[in-house]
Amino acid sequence: MMQSKVFWLKLQATAPLPQSQERLTKLFYTAGLDKLVETNDHTAIKVHFGEKQSDTFLSPDLISPIVHCVRERGARPFLTDTNVLYKSVRDNAVTHLELAYSHGFTYERVGAPVIIADGIKGKNEAAIEINAPLNKTVSLATEIVSANSIIVLSHATGHINAGLGATIKNIGMGMASRKGKLTQHSQSKPRIDKNKCTACSICAHWCPSDAIIVGQQFAIINETICIGCGECLTLCRQNAIRFRWDNTSINLQRQIAEHALGIIKEKKGKIGFMTFMINMTKDCDCLVGKQTPLIPDIGVLAGIDPVAIDQAVLDLTQNFHQKTLAQLAYPNNDATEQLRYGEEIGLGNRKYHLIECDF
Ligand code: SF4
Ligand code: SF4
Repeated sequence: MMQSKVFWLKLQATAPLPQSQERLTKLFYTAGLDKLVETNDHTAIKVHFGEKQSDTFLSPDLISPIVHCVRERGARPFLTDTNVLYKSVRDNAVTHLELAYSHGFTYERVGAPVIIADGIKGKNEAAIEINAPLNKTVSLATEIVSANSIIVLSHATGHINAGLGATIKNIGMGMASRKGKLTQHSQSKPRIDKNKCTACSICAHWCPSDAIIVGQQFAIINETICIGCGECLTLCRQNAIRFRWDNTSINLQRQIAEHALGIIKEKKGKIGFMTFMINMTKDCDCLVGKQTPLIPDIGVLAGIDPVAIDQAVLDLTQNFHQKTLAQLAYPNNDATEQLRYGEEIGLGNRKYHLIECDF
């Protein structure tokens, strides 16, 4: 198999903005992403608008040059993301849009409108046939499937369940409809350690399925209605909630890879990626509140192979910091399954040729 090309631009989040914008524009053209976009295309630019009180998501000012590049091709760009399963301002399109605007993703600042791709309540979906081992079809957000071309802008972070949240995760989970997300989480069931639980009820308050019952001394989870979203795990301050990483993470990563395969197959030759290794935090951009980056910035990767790009994220972080981003964030969780399985089902190639850009 031929090696995939991954283009690497060294970039710091704190660099002067006009210079960073100019360099990102050059990266877009150097990586050949312009060739994926044609005149009159509706081009989805997949982003993440952050969460309440967070500030490490990709700045709209780093996204605007990419919007400009797409416009230069004569296409019609729009920024997009999908709604989430758990209780959040991003669990419906209306408050999701309001959050996006409040974080600066406005037409005036970015140069493109925002469309939440799976509708008001995450139910607008298209079934894409993949005939993969776990799924014959996957359910993806309608407006992403309807787009003629897609540029995926991802923020590399750790992830509580998948270990790594980067390109594959941004496609597989981030482009799925509610049904697609539920399928991906179907085998992830957490357990509560009753010796650590203080019955504070925080997890029960936020659980989207009302699956947590809090007694006088500890809480328990009703596994039959738990959807495995992992929200309780991120919220518990007593470290009382645990996933069985061995099974749940591997299954989740395979599901993410299969859902990503749906959009890769559907948009073959019309989808490209830029993955930002700046402000790399332990948890993904879905977390409410501020996070401190784990390691210094490394730059931005671009190309057309999501597996190759995520492999480069792991390799570069390991080269610079002795451990991969995933190992630093969640040492007990092996994040490489999404890459290994992704390669096995034809999502991309783990072998790549890294091309350092010197502009
Ligand atoms: S958040 Fe943690 S400590 Fe509080 S009830 Fe839930 S499991 Fe128990
Ligand atoms: S109990 Fe299940 S559904 Fe509820 S927050 Fe935890 S993982 Fe999500």
